[in-house]
Amino acid sequence: MAERVAGPEIERLIQLLAKLPGLGPRSARRAALHLIRKREELLGPLANAMQVAKERILTCTACGNVDTSDPCTVCSDTRRDPSLLVVVETVADLWALERAAALRARYHVLGGTLSPLDGVGPKDINLDSLVTRVAEGDIKEIILAVNATVDGQTTAHYITDILSHLDVKITRLAHGVPVGGELDYLDEGTLSAAIRQRTDF
Ligand code: ZN
Repeated sequence: MAERVAGPEIERLIQLLAKLPGLGPRSARRAALHLIRKREELLGPLANAMQVAKERILTCTACGNVDTSDPCTVCSDTRRDPSLLVVVETVADLWALERAAALRARYHVLGGTLSPLDGVGPKDINLDSLVTRVAEGDIKEIILAVNATVDGQTTAHYITDILSHLDVKITRLAHGVPVGGELDYLDEGTLSAAIRQRTDF
């Protein structure tokens, strides 16, 4: 076993950093060393930011996003189109779509997908609140921005069913050729979806 090179406080820091996604023990060690070297400009401010986040972060009761206010920044933004609602699986997906800045809509975070095999049913994700929001009547279009996985598509079909009695247009993300993608490298499923969903040029 390797000799310990640091006291328990630093070892603890490394162990915690190693639990972050994308960081293994090696990169956690490197990150810890970087934080220690930049104690004033990085370690201190980071510790403070984490403390504030821990005390103030909550889940938006309207959409399921995480923020320090409820309703969240996205829900309170009056420049967004209230008639457009994007349904996503996770907060990470919401943030990804916001990074793409393709539309100024509001969101609904499901908090997962239906997964009969894993015992995840309709009551386990935020579906009731979705129906309630749509039934209020301001929403004209629902964009199903769920993953192109079996569970994602099962969830999309289920949502289409439970909203069918309401006067709302339901759309989903196109499946197809990624921007900058080369056809030769695509799998057959993606290629055939791209052909089926071709658009006017
Ligand atoms: Zn919100």
